[in-house]
Amino acid sequence: MFDCFNRKINYLRISVTDRCNLRCTYCMPAEGVKMLARKDILSFDEILEVVDYGVKNGITKVRITGGEPLVRKGIVSLISQIALYKEIEDLAMTTNAILLPEFADDLVKAGLQRVNISLDTLNEENFNKTTRIGDLNAVLRGIEVAKKAGLNPIKLNCVIKKSSDSSDAQTVAKFAKKNAFEVRFIPEMNLGKGEFGIVEGGDGGNCSICNRLRLTANGQLKPCLFNDLSYNIRQLGVQQAYNNALGNKPLTGQKNKTGNFYNIGG
Ligand code: SF4
Repeated sequence: MFDCFNRKINYLRISVTDRCNLRCTYCMPAEGVKMLARKDILSFDEILEVVDYGVKNGITKVRITGGEPLVRKGIVSLISQIALYKEIEDLAMTTNAILLPEFADDLVKAGLQRVNISLDTLNEENFNKTTRIGDLNAVLRGIEVAKKAGLNPIKLNCVIKKSSDSSDAQTVAKFAKKNAFEVRFIPEMNLGKGEFGIVEGGDGGNCSICNRLRLTANGQLKPCLFNDLSYNIRQLGVQQAYNNALGNKPLTGQKNKTGNFYNIGG
């Protein structure tokens, strides 16, 4: 499928929950967040309807995100159903790795190919400051288990404030190199201010070649992360939501005053 600027759109990012077992400062406000009501969260059948239409119209890459996708009950079963689509060449997940020891083997059996794991620092104090409630060792255990389970490649998503020259970023880069992982340096973003940059080592944030649509956990199909436009699949139906998202996808990101990273999935 192509958008209104003739960009090829073949990548669907699916947020399966707005819940998370971390409270990262650049994602969740200190005062906490109002979670979506269970009735507003898409069922697996509804998510599969969006996948089905997308795959039949050119989607070949699917990424499962959150919040933290592994907190969504039955996530392995959803992965196994998405993996049945032979047209999907790339089925990946973005996770904070904490629950990977419990799920990694089953995810691989279900057809998950690879993971991006959030890791901004290997300094315990900085990790605690950034995640508020996290345990760095639990993340490192999750990374180890992902490697053993055969999820490959493993890419580390490292959010950077200013530059990838920071000691935290450089330590993560060394860790990645030592383990034959890839690293992505993601400039800290601000939706409301429209602050974002191109991901070092990835293609996120490069609007001229943007190839993605996002589905939020409550069924909004979003043409762009840095824009308020979204089309509700329950109200419009899947086909109309896709048509609207493709027909109104902005040339470049601006500001997103209505969404949050934890319910869009970055
Ligand atoms: S800001 Fe919007 S158009 Fe630009 S890369 Fe991100 S999603 Fe695509």
